[in-house]
Amino acid sequence: MKLTAWGRFPVVDAEQIRYGNETSLREAVCRNNELIAYGNGRSYGDCALATRSLNMRRYDRFIHFDSSTGQLTCEAGVLFATILETFLPRGWFLQVTPGTQLITVGGAIACDVHGKNHHLAGCFSETVVSLRILLADGTIVTCCREQHRELFLATCGGMGLTGVILEASFTLTRVASRWIEQRVIKTANLDETFAAFEHHGRTPYSVAWIDCLQRGANLGRSLLMLGEFSDDGDLDYRKSRKVNIPCDFPDFALNSLTVKVFNTLYYGKVRSESSSRRVGVDSFFYPLDALHDWNRMYGRSGFVQYHFILPKARSAVGMNQIISIIAESGMASFLAVLKLYGAENDCYLSFPQEGYSLALDFKLIPAVIPLLHRLDALVLEFGGRIYLAKDACMNRAVFEQSYPRLSAFREVRSKYDPHGKFSSRQSMRLGL
Ligand SMILES: Cc1cc2nc3c(=O)[nH]c(=O)nc-3n(C[C@H](O)[C@H](O)[C@H](O)COP(=O)(O)OP(=O)(O)OC[C@H]3O[C@@H](n4cnc5c(N)ncnc54)[C@H](O)[C@@H]3O)c2cc1C
Repeated sequence: MKLTAWGRFPVVDAEQIRYGNETSLREAVCRNNELIAYGNGRSYGDCALATRSLNMRRYDRFIHFDSSTGQLTCEAGVLFATILETFLPRGWFLQVTPGTQLITVGGAIACDVHGKNHHLAGCFSETVVSLRILLADGTIVTCCREQHRELFLATCGGMGLTGVILEASFTLTRVASRWIEQRVIKTANLDETFAAFEHHGRTPYSVAWIDCLQRGANLGRSLLMLGEFSDDGDLDYRKSRKVNIPCDFPDFALNSLTVKVFNTLYYGKVRSESSSRRVGVDSFFYPLDALHDWNRMYGRSGFVQYHFILPKARSAVGMNQIISIIAESGMASFLAVLKLYGAENDCYLSFPQEGYSLALDFKLIPAVIPLLHRLDALVLEFGGRIYLAKDACMNRAVFEQSYPRLSAFREVRSKYDPHGKFSSRQSMRLGL
């Protein structure tokens, strides 16, 4: 079958590995090579794509919940959406959640995802207590920070390359509402945006939408969204309704003109420098989930999301240069998201470092790939790195220079999977 992830690029021919239960899954893993787990395909590039694909969605049961500590144990194919539906009405929320709830627990761990609160809460791995993992030789081990520590550190952020995560225990956090008190701050340029992020560094959640087509004095003008849970006791959470994108948009639909019009209207919609209102959890954390199949807006050829991070000390100069090049190219889309990050963790391939990240979508046209390689060189020059969960084009040299704990990861991987049974299109491209 043809398989892609969210960016719909690349497309691979993949054989679906069939299994009915844990025993047949173990046998299938022992029998096959060049395979990788597939969660819900919400990574963007080729990290979940391989010759053989293990669909983990059937591993979708809750196992245990301890309401005195908030510790949840579940199978790796459980969706964040299911966790929210089940636990938010009881006053529990994910400590760390990315911008979509349509991901599996296994995918969240394998990419060590982060959210709008990285500056205070870190990555998803920091909420994980232990993992049950199926290794290349068919054995199943439980690992945590104290037991098989190096396997734990390589698996969180390890892109599925150490084995198949079967179950995980992690802690949820108490909340008192399904509402978020949101404040939007309008900034005129990048310096103002950084200053506003720093000024509100104690606010639990922050994220900025940035107008990437502006240049000169307006470069980096943004809407900074700040949020914290309300304390009104209203936990009557229901899923928001979704709108369908019924077909692939034609190639001409998204171009620099339509994006410019969108950006002007979106930025202009906020009239005052600062405004506040209460919004639902879905609308604050997962605005794009409201548009079912929104990836079709980029047309049949798909798109890439370019998500990079720069260390704080070099963020202002680096972002300025990179955004200028993107604005000049006229190729960026309307989705451009800037986030603030706190300290990096000890997982070998985890993406975050203390600084700022920018994520942008590019419709896949031939001119995009050379542009991204040009940006890669700048990210490297400024001491940053590119997020593996989104990557589809990075080359091996850039990767090797930007992930300093790669050799520790490779050592663990060769100990637990010496013949490279678990491999993806991405791991082959990057020599992981
Ligand atoms: C709209 C949108 C917003 C997003 N926002 C953010 C964000 O704010 N922050 C962020 O960090 N990410 C973000 N992402 C990326 C997304 O959170 C990650 O890519 C996530 O890992 C996808 O999970 P998945 O279950 O779909 O995994 P897949 O995409 O299917 O797989 C991703 C990786 O996980 C591995 N994997 C999956 N299941 C297992 C398993 N059981 N055992 C071992 N390995 C496994 C795969 O092999 C692959 O390497 C966003 C994605 C979208 C579409």
